[in-house]
Amino acid sequence: MINIQENILLAPLTSFRIGGNAKYYVEVFSVEELKEALVFAKDKKIDFYILGGGTNLLVSDNGFAGLIIKIKMNEISANDDMIDVQAGVPLIKLINTASQQGLSGLEKLAGIPGTVGGAVRGNAGAFSSEIKSCVKNVTAFDTEKMELKTFENEQCNFAYRTSIFKENKNLIVISTTLILQKGEISEIQKLVTDTIMTRSARGLNGVKSAGSYFMNPVVENEKLCQEFEKEKGVPVRNKTLPAGWVIEQAGLLGKQIGGAEVSEKHANYIINAGEATASDVIMLVSFVKQQVRDQFGIQLTEEVNYLGF
Ligand SMILES: Cc1cc2nc3c(=O)[nH]c(=O)nc-3n(C[C@H](O)[C@H](O)[C@H](O)COP(=O)(O)OP(=O)(O)OC[C@H]3O[C@@H](n4cnc5c(N)ncnc54)[C@H](O)[C@@H]3O)c2cc1C
Repeated sequence: MINIQENILLAPLTSFRIGGNAKYYVEVFSVEELKEALVFAKDKKIDFYILGGGTNLLVSDNGFAGLIIKIKMNEISANDDMIDVQAGVPLIKLINTASQQGLSGLEKLAGIPGTVGGAVRGNAGAFSSEIKSCVKNVTAFDTEKMELKTFENEQCNFAYRTSIFKENKNLIVISTTLILQKGEISEIQKLVTDTIMTRSARGLNGVKSAGSYFMNPVVENEKLCQEFEKEKGVPVRNKTLPAGWVIEQAGLLGKQIGGAEVSEKHANYIINAGEATASDVIMLVSFVKQQVRDQFGIQLTEEVNYLGF
């Protein structure tokens, strides 16, 4: 039996710590409970929205007039070189389980907050590693057909920060089976620790944000690409520049509107520097996009998801 609550403040459920109330809120621990929640939303003729860890989300100040369904399916099991894991498991728990089992492949994702479901949907990645490389298959719940369907890796349409589950709102990630490589436990654990330390050194831990705000843009501006290569001493790959570097070139480091700020430490992080509202963030994001477009002819697009706008 699901427990549907009313008027739940969403800000504390997100890493941005921004956003108004959800009209309805429910936590689901099984597919059966998920079905019940979906039927509730259908009967009430309201929208639903899936919430994982809330680490890649900006919620409107007006909140959401529908049903938030928080995925709490938390099972995880390892068998030989495979791990079956449900969508509500924190990504770090999956990585720790893999490393304790001497299974390698996920180490460079250590430190990415959020759940496995969110990571699969957005094909989370860091340091040239993406979760898609380890995914054997994904089981999703199709809310239109009200049934489960399993997608093999090549059917998941994984690409840079996207997948078939992001393209289709009716597909809710329930679980995934990962295939990993057997390795030395100590080496795997060291890489996990080193990765977390490299991220900590950026000084962004504990900062209220949703991670990188924009996707890294594909850039036709050759002069800008040359400047990047000269400054960084590395070639531009696939005509793609780091969004943060582009924003920095536009002179926007530290730019503030209300409580929202372009982080001084990483220009692709829009942070809630105090009591930022979603409106502050939206105004700052619009300003950044306009400046980057005007100065370099580059159209930035968001990696962060919007709810309630
Ligand atoms: C400090 C910080 C650092 C970050 N660093 C990185 C990084 O290095 N690399 C990276 O890729 N990301 C990074 N992120 C972004 C974020 O952590 C990832 O995108 C993460 O995978 C989101 O997972 P989540 O469970 O929090 O998703 P949420 O924020 O809860 O949801 C994000 C979107 O996914 C949908 N969703 C969530 N769960 C499911 C599901 N089970 N089925 C279908 N849809 C679902 C939601 O509806 C929403 O649209 C960072 C974020 C922060 C705050």
